[in-house]
Amino acid sequence: MVVAYKHEPFTDFTVEENKQAMLDALKKVEADLGKEYPLIIGGERITTEDKIVSVNPANKDEIIGYVSKANKELAEKAMKTAEEAFESFWRKSDPAVRADILFRSAAIVRKRKHEFSALLIKEGGKPWNEADADTAEAIDFMEYYGRQMLKLKNGVEVESRPIEFNQFHYIPLGVGLVISPWNFLFAIMAGTTVAAMVTGNTVLLKPASATPVIAYKFMEVLEEAGMPAGVVNYIPGPGSEVGDYLVDHPRTRFVSFTGSREVGTRIFERAGVVHEGQKWLKRTIIEMGGKDTIVVDKEADLELAAQSIVKSAFGFSGQKCSACSRAVIHADVYDQVEKRVIELTKEVSAGNPATNEHFTGPVIDQAAYDKIMSYVEIGKNEGELLVGGDSDDSKGWFVNPTVFGNVAPDARIMQEEIFGPVVALSKAKDFDEAIEIANNTEYGLTGAVITNNRSHLEQAREDFHVGNLYFNRGCTGAIVGYQPFGGFNMSGTDSKAGGPDYLIQHMQGKTTSEMF
Ligand code: NAP
Repeated sequence: MVVAYKHEPFTDFTVEENKQAMLDALKKVEADLGKEYPLIIGGERITTEDKIVSVNPANKDEIIGYVSKANKELAEKAMKTAEEAFESFWRKSDPAVRADILFRSAAIVRKRKHEFSALLIKEGGKPWNEADADTAEAIDFMEYYGRQMLKLKNGVEVESRPIEFNQFHYIPLGVGLVISPWNFLFAIMAGTTVAAMVTGNTVLLKPASATPVIAYKFMEVLEEAGMPAGVVNYIPGPGSEVGDYLVDHPRTRFVSFTGSREVGTRIFERAGVVHEGQKWLKRTIIEMGGKDTIVVDKEADLELAAQSIVKSAFGFSGQKCSACSRAVIHADVYDQVEKRVIELTKEVSAGNPATNEHFTGPVIDQAAYDKIMSYVEIGKNEGELLVGGDSDDSKGWFVNPTVFGNVAPDARIMQEEIFGPVVALSKAKDFDEAIEIANNTEYGLTGAVITNNRSHLEQAREDFHVGNLYFNRGCTGAIVGYQPFGGFNMSGTDSKAGGPDYLIQHMQGKTTSEMF
C-alpha cells in the first residue's frame, strides 16, 4: 500500500551530525570531479569526441565533468530508440509498475540525499539549504507523480445507459522531448522527466548544458530503480542544434520545456509547424520566466515585508523564476521598508557556497554575470543604487545582492527578467495603484502581498494576475503537492507542476462506448 503523500523535510544544518554528513558528501563528490560521462541511448553508453565541460560556477578551475555531446545523428538515433520502446512495450506497461519505478527512485535519492545535494552545490553553485531544497523537491516530484498516476490509471467514471457501456481513460502520447533549465538542475529536470515517463511516454532528456552531470546521475538512479532501457534517453547537447532538431522532428509528439521566455516562445512557434510525415499536432508544455513582485501595504508587518523581500530576492542569487525582482511599497511606509531592506541586504553576501558561510553563491556563468552587470549599469540610470552593485569574476561569478530604490514602474529593471540578485523598489500611492503596477509586466508567475487588511487580501486574490500568489510570506518556495506551480501570460502555459492537473497534460483521453 502506498502511504499518503507528505513532502520531504528540509535538513537543519545547524545540527552537527547533519553538517558533518554534508561535509562528508562534499568530499565524496570532490573525489569524482573531472570524470567523463557518456550519453545513454537505449541503455547503451555512447562516448563522443566533442564534450560539454561542466564547471563549478564558484570556482571556474574546478571541472565537474566532461560530458559527451549529442549531435543531430545521435538525436535521430535516440528518437528511433524511444519510438521503438514506446511502441513495443512502454505504452502498454502497467501504470502501477511505472509508479513503482518512481517510488524506488525516490527512495534511492533519499538514501543518498546529501550526496546529490553536494553535487548541486558544486555544479549549480547552490548554497547548502538551496541544494537541500532542490533535492527534496526532486524526491517530492517522484513521490507525488507516482501517486497521481495511481489515481489516474483507471480513467474517470462517465455515465452509461441501459444497453450501452462507456469508459473514459487516459493513454500516453508518444515520444516526449524534455528540455530542462540549470537553475533547478535536479528538481525540474527530474520532475519533468518522470511526469512524462510515468504517464507511459518515452523520453528524450536534454538537460541544460551548464548542468548535465546531475542529469546523468539521475539516469543511474532510474536504471537502478528498474527503468527499462530506451524509456528515458539521455542526450545532452546544444539547445540550438539538438533542441531545434528534435522540436522540429515529425516524430516528436510533445515538448516539455522549462526555461527562458526567448527559448520558450521559439519552441512554441516551431512546434506549431506541421512537418512532412507528421501525423499529429504537437503538444507543448512551456514554463518560462517571471518578473515577480512583492506588494507591501501600509497596514502591514513591515519587518516581515523587508525579510520577505530580501529572502525572495537574493536566495540562490535571484536565479529562481519565482524570485522577487520588484517590490511595490505603499508610499506611507516606503521609507521604513527601504531602510530595513538596506540593513538586511548589507548582512547578506555572495561567496563560495561549499563552505556554507555565505547567504548566497555565484551566478551560473559568464553570460549570466555579464547580463546581470549590464542591468546594474542600466539600474544606475533608472533608480538610486542603495546597496551592492559590486561583483567579482576572478575566481567564480559572484555578484553581491543589489538594491535599487525609487524606481519608476515602467523602468527596464522593473520590466525585464534579470535573473540575478537585483531587486528594484517602487512606490505606490495606494493599494489599487500597487496592484496595477504589480500587473504591469508581460509575465504573471508569482507574487506576494504583505498586509493585515483583509479586504486588500481579497482584492489581490481577484486582481493580482499571477499563477502563484502568496499572502504574508515571500514569493518563492512552492512545495510539490501543496502549491502547484506555473504562471500566466508570458510566464508560460500554466501547467502547474506538482499539482493534480499536471500529469494529464502528458496524456490523451480516450472514450470507448460499447453497445449491447
Ligand atoms: P534557457 O536558456 O531558455 O535554457 C533552457 C533549456 O533550453 C536548456 O536546456 C537549453 O539548452 C535549451 N535550449 C536553448 N536553446 C534551445 C533551442 N533553440 N531549442 C530547444 N532548446 C533550447 O533557460 P535557462 O537559462 O536554462 O533557465 C533560466 C530561465 O528559466 C529563466 O528565464 C527562468 O525564469 C526560467 N525558469 C522558469 C521556470 C518555471 O517554472 N516557469 C522554472 C525555472 C526556470 P542549452 O543549455 O544547451 O542552451
